[in-house]
Amino acid sequence: MSMGNRYQALLDEVKIGPVVAPNRFYQVPHCTGMGYGSPNTLAAMREVKAEGGWGVVCTEYCSIHPSSDDTPMPYASMWDDADIKAQAMMVDKVHAHGSLAGIQLWHGGSDISNLYSREITLGPQSRPASGMDPVQSAAMDKRDLRALRSWHRAAAGRAVEAGFDLVYVYATHGYLLSQFLSPSNRRSDEYGGSLENRVRLVRELLEETREVLGDRCALAIRLSSDGGETDGEPDSGEQREIVSLLGDLPDLWDINIHDYSYEMGSSRFVKEAALEDYVSYVKSMTGKPVVGVGRFTSPDTMLRQVESGVLDLIGCARPSIADPFLPRKVKEGRIDDIRECIGCNLCYAGDSKGNPISCTQNPSMGEEWRRGWHPEFISPRASAKRILVVGGGPAGMEAARALGARGYEVALAERSSELGGRVSAESGLPGLAEWGRVRDWRVGQIRKMDNVSVYLESDVDSAQVAEFGADCVAIATGAKWRRDGIGRWHGTEIQGWREATVVTPDDLFAGVEIKGEALIFDDDLYYMGGVLAEMLALRGVLVSLVTSESLVSPWTRNTEEQPRVQKRLIELGVRIEANTVVEALSEGKAHLACAFTGRERTVEASTVVMVTSRKPDDALYSSLVESEQTIRIGDCLAPGTIAASVRSGHRYAQEMDAGVDESQGGAVPFLREEPKLFG
Ligand code: ADP
Ligand code: SF4
Repeated sequence: MSMGNRYQALLDEVKIGPVVAPNRFYQVPHCTGMGYGSPNTLAAMREVKAEGGWGVVCTEYCSIHPSSDDTPMPYASMWDDADIKAQAMMVDKVHAHGSLAGIQLWHGGSDISNLYSREITLGPQSRPASGMDPVQSAAMDKRDLRALRSWHRAAAGRAVEAGFDLVYVYATHGYLLSQFLSPSNRRSDEYGGSLENRVRLVRELLEETREVLGDRCALAIRLSSDGGETDGEPDSGEQREIVSLLGDLPDLWDINIHDYSYEMGSSRFVKEAALEDYVSYVKSMTGKPVVGVGRFTSPDTMLRQVESGVLDLIGCARPSIADPFLPRKVKEGRIDDIRECIGCNLCYAGDSKGNPISCTQNPSMGEEWRRGWHPEFISPRASAKRILVVGGGPAGMEAARALGARGYEVALAERSSELGGRVSAESGLPGLAEWGRVRDWRVGQIRKMDNVSVYLESDVDSAQVAEFGADCVAIATGAKWRRDGIGRWHGTEIQGWREATVVTPDDLFAGVEIKGEALIFDDDLYYMGGVLAEMLALRGVLVSLVTSESLVSPWTRNTEEQPRVQKRLIELGVRIEANTVVEALSEGKAHLACAFTGRERTVEASTVVMVTSRKPDDALYSSLVESEQTIRIGDCLAPGTIAASVRSGHRYAQEMDAGVDESQGGAVPFLREEPKLFG
């Protein structure tokens, strides 16, 4: 440890009951979209966090019984002794780096649907599942409650056997225990009605789990510090009383808030440390350590939380995903090297859709075991090849950075006067400034590399590529938004688009101004249509947003943003034309059609903003002589998310000289988790 580290307070040990966390960096339980079916993937991913210095590394929600099954969302399990081995593997890997391992025991109650286990869901009262599944829970009777307590005890016992240091009683996020705590729990027995009754089950589980853990493990509770959807206006409601009723029963308070879309809000809507005013009272009510989250990426903000007595441990999920080595970098004084989370919530979309999470900033997330990628270390170059990368967007930058880290001689040529590509353009949109970190971190890293040369204002053509004489060339020239309306809805161009005034997102990035009115046709369905509507409305343009779906920016449901997008657009006066498509255009007019009936109507449309799909900018690639040494990466290959571009550039660098030959029999390019066969 370097003497005089101004972040020393973050590196101090913290006693949590019978165990000691080596520092204050605490990876709170977070979903991974991996779950019980991917034990190797999970263990390797968690190990990298411990290696990177997180003093405590926790599992995701870990089901205690088949009546708690969140399929299709993957979750961990401790259903029987067969689960111990997989969990122990993760624990051992975390312990190997001197960190503590925590497990979040979970029962979903009425919130879930049990689609895999097909067990009846259980709750304090009979309530419909929170998704749209036609499932309603059984109200738990005394026998069910006794059973639940025995499942929890058994799971805690298995956790001890697996070697965990910290075991959670999980009483928030709308799951079973928070259903009991809720004022809506109107049971007439001793588990409902009065606050004391509603707290009873949580108290019993804390006491019983403590008995199982003995002196070996710490007991944590995860609880919300506020009483409901307050959207930035803290109101502790009854939770303050709950904290005081539970007193010093747990060894650790892991505090979050009721509204998940605020707690883990995207940077478009919620900024760093936004929960501070919600959670700050808890420390004054307990002598036990308190951990909380806030998408902390700045060590200064973290330090302030500790020094001002808000938190004892800095809880992180996303910052630990974007940079598993954040704590180590703080310890080594390498603050500039921290790869800050951009708050895009693409990681959460993995879990929402039931696939292993990925990360825009960290392309190795989820690839630690199956591809052997590491967020910090990459194998040294295997040849003295000189590589030319054309295009300095996220794909080109990441390719150049990772190739540079391997030691290759790299030239990165960019047409414009700065690196960043679409990231530079999109980070100028309302709320998206933090997305610029994708560029800034890579620019900072590349600057430190003598073997990577950057050529700005270099519009490269095929003659220059030939003249440069590189051994390998990566074309990362990106993609352009289409003007003709081809996208999800229309497979061929929209009739009459040439007669209309059509602008694309690229035109707007380039400074084209719209006066008066604009009609946006959003057939892309992620963030672009909605965020452009917001930008134009803020500039005083009267905006109509036409979308074939019933909600605006519907894919942002996966990133916990959609209701906020819709609310913001409504508040800005954007006219939302849902379930509608642009069928045809003519001068000054748009011919709209109902997405269900096809019934048409014509509206005035002086300017149409076309947000449908993108066309790869592959003219340079096509003009080059086909060769194994020249490939397309990023949006130039297949337009996608920024994360997909970063990943594409990273993969190119990883596979340089790795002997990967796709044409040889199509071997699966990564390890797979294998189910056990009983045949
Ligand atoms: P990706 O997401 O795949 O990285 P972007 O569109 O963000 O794609 O970035 C592509 C970058 O390539 C842009 O910054 C663009 O200016 C640059 N570019 C496009 N064509 C050329 C070219 N012929 N020479 C140099 N740079 C180019
Ligand atoms: Fe942060 Fe986005 Fe990575 Fe999630 S995907 S950790 S929000 S950068």
